[in-house]
Order: sequence, then C-alpha cells, then structure tokens
Amino acid sequence: MASETSFKTVSRVAAAQKKAAQPSVLPPTTTFAELGIDEWLCETLKSMQIKKPTEIQRACIPPILAGKDVIGGAKTGSGKTAAFALPILQKLSEEPYGVFALVLTPTRELAFQIAEQFRVLGKSIGLKESVVVGGLDMMTQALELSRRPHVIIATPGRLRDHIRSSSGAVHLSRARFLVMDEADRLLSPTFVSELEAILPQLPKKRQTLLFTATMTESILALKDAEDDPKKRPFVHVCDMSVSTVATLDQFYIFVPSHVRTTYLTHLLRSDDFKEKSVIIFCGRCSTAEMITIMLKELGIRCTALHSEMSQQQRLDSLGKFKAEVIKVLVSTDVGSRGLDIPSVELVLNYDIPRDPTDYIHRVGRTARAGRGGQALSIVTEKDVQLVQNIEARMNKKMEEYKVNEDEILKELSEVSTAKRVASMVSLSTNGRWYLCN
Ligand code: AMP
Repeated sequence: MASETSFKTVSRVAAAQKKAAQPSVLPPTTTFAELGIDEWLCETLKSMQIKKPTEIQRACIPPILAGKDVIGGAKTGSGKTAAFALPILQKLSEEPYGVFALVLTPTRELAFQIAEQFRVLGKSIGLKESVVVGGLDMMTQALELSRRPHVIIATPGRLRDHIRSSSGAVHLSRARFLVMDEADRLLSPTFVSELEAILPQLPKKRQTLLFTATMTESILALKDAEDDPKKRPFVHVCDMSVSTVATLDQFYIFVPSHVRTTYLTHLLRSDDFKEKSVIIFCGRCSTAEMITIMLKELGIRCTALHSEMSQQQRLDSLGKFKAEVIKVLVSTDVGSRGLDIPSVELVLNYDIPRDPTDYIHRVGRTARAGRGGQALSIVTEKDVQLVQNIEARMNKKMEEYKVNEDEILKELSEVSTAKRVASMVSLSTNGRWYLCN
C-alpha cells in the first residue's frame, strides 16, 4: 500500500515537474533585474555577493510579482527563502504596512534562519520583522506583535497561542502574503489544529506561497482544488530527486543494539571521522540528551539540539556548531530540515528514522552545494526493514562500513560507565527524569 502511494506521488511529481518546468523558467543567464526585481534589492543582493538567481528564484519570482499563488518544490540551500522574500519585500516597499506577510515554518530554528534573510534583505527599507516561536516570553512577543511588524515569521503553535490569548496583539486581517515553508510538514496532521486557528485570521484575498523540499500528493492536490484555471497556483518543482545521491557516500554499520554507544564512540574517535564536523541524529530528545552527556564524559566535545532545550540553549548550541567551535552536534529531527549549515561532513544516524523522508532530510545536511559528504547509519537487528525502505526510496544501496571489532570491544567498559553516568543525569531545564535507552 505504502509503495503504491509513493509510486503515485513520484509519478505525479514527475508529471508536475515536466509540465511546470522548463518552458516557464528563464535561462540561467537571467539577472535579478530581468526577473523584475527593483534596483534597491539588486544592490542589496550584490552587497551579499548574490549575483545570479537560482532556478527556484528564476521560476517563482516573476509569478509572485505578478500576483499569483505559487507552489515551489526545491531543496534546502537552493535559495528558496529568497525566492519568496524578495518579491514580498518588493511589494512591501511599494505599500508598506504591517502585518504585510505571515511566514509559517515548522521549527524554531528555521524561523530564525528565515527572519535573518528577511532582516538582511530588507535592511534598507527599515523592515520590521518579528519571530514568534515557542520557548520565548509571551508578553514580550505580544508587545512586539501589537506594534504590527511588516513580516511575522512564526511556528504555528506559538502563533495560535497568541491568537487565542486575550491580548488582541495579532493583526493578520490585511496580510497580503501567507508563506508556508516546509509545507509538507505544515500540512501534515501534526499542525491541523494550529492551522485551523490561524488561517481564518487571514483575508481570503491574499497570495499563498507554499514551499517544500518534499513534494507530496496532498500539496499537488491543492493545485487542482481551484476551479478557476486563472486562479490556479503556478507550480515549479526543481529537480528534487535525492539531491545528494551523486556526491553523498552512504554507509551502514551493522551493530548489536546493546553496544551501539560503544560503536558510536569508536567511530567519533577514529581517524576517519575525528576531525570532521558531524551531526548525530537520534530519534528522541532523551536519547540525544543521554548521548550528549555520555560523549562529554568520554572527552568528546559536542552540543545538543532538541525540543526539550530552551530556545536560548538551542540557539547557542546551533551557533557554536555553525561557527565550528564545536564539531559534533547531537540532534533530533528538529535539526534535520532546512538548516543552512554549510560545513557538515558526516551525518551519523544513531537511530534509523521510521520514515524514509526523514532520512532524506537528515542526509541533506551534508553533501550540499556540490560538495561531497558522508552518511553513516548505525543499524541494529531491529532496523533491517527500515533500511530496506530507505534504500528503496533512495534507489541506492548503502555500503557496509568496516570496523575492527576487537578494537571496539576494548572501549566497551569505558563507554558503559559513561553511559551509566549519562543515564542518571536529569535534564536540568525542566527537572524531568528520562529513561534512556
Ligand atoms: P535556502 O535555505 O534554500 O533559502 O538557501 C539559503 C542560502 O542560499 C542562504 O545562505 C542564501 O544567502 C543563499 N542564496 C540565496 N539565493 C542565492 C543565489 N541566488 N545565489 C547564491 N546563494 C544564494
């Protein structure tokens, strides 16, 4: 059943790609000015060393400027934020008021990343943008919202909380743009109740821009939902076939589940990886926390990123990793989507994700912008089916990564002690005790 659905999706995506694609896209030599971007924005782009529009920008900027709804499929790092931020800023400069645009995105880190691009691009017009995400003070945010920023960049849960609160701080009734970044996640059942609270606050007459790194059946269905062909959204799907296949080496290492941490430690200490910048992905916050504490116990510098940390801790952690002050980031899937971290050399899956899409997002953190990268998945006896599903989706087999087991077993006792210590440590942020696996 699952494979039939994914096959249908793939064929629909391929068809959409063929149809939407290429005639409507201007050639790679096109300039931002030729896309209709005003001089002041072209100057800003020049100062940021951004010289030529990317494919998603060439495809989507003209229809957005022309007032159309747009569905864009493009990988992270393809310039999709600027593809919507530039035309929004241009329209805003013609008729400045707040709230002019609402950008929804599933994770807090993405919200800050998008806000940063708006801030830089909109500096010369005195853009006021506001990030509305959980983990920060509600009162301060309400005050900021009541000042009617031009652009709100929000995660759905916190924005809904503001709408429901009695502060009356959220004014979306005149918004000209709604952007859904990572729309496949936003339109999943997880966010239904939040969107039900938010969307009625927006005017019916607005432009809706959906961007996603994974095109799904339900997103494509939106295109046909509109009866009037003139009002149907413009769709452009860039080549989303797993971007990374050409430059990504994918390995697995088969490990009995009870010694996973010892293998992990050995890998991080090995000559192959000890100098590399690594993201270790774990399935749960508790596991990410335990691994972080354990690795620190073992003298491996690392930092964590998961949703049980405070927002300030998350930002600090990401900042240190981005600046390469710390080269190992232990993350849950909050870190798997959209983060613009140029230098990750290895993605290490401590847990294998249940959904192959999550795997694709995780490995998308490396091998970016044509650079090579490696993904190494620690596979236990329980994960074999999951790996086969991933291989089928990627259309590529992982290679076995060979290690010297005798060497690894020498580290067993040291790692077991560190793991015991880590499992005993409570998360000081919320005083909760976790049972770590
Ligand atoms: P994305 O996450 O897809 O929005 O891409 C983010 C990165 O691409 C940011 O670092 C942008 O500054 C950069 N970027 C955006 N547009 C371009 C462009 N046309 N050429 C080069 N880099 C760009």
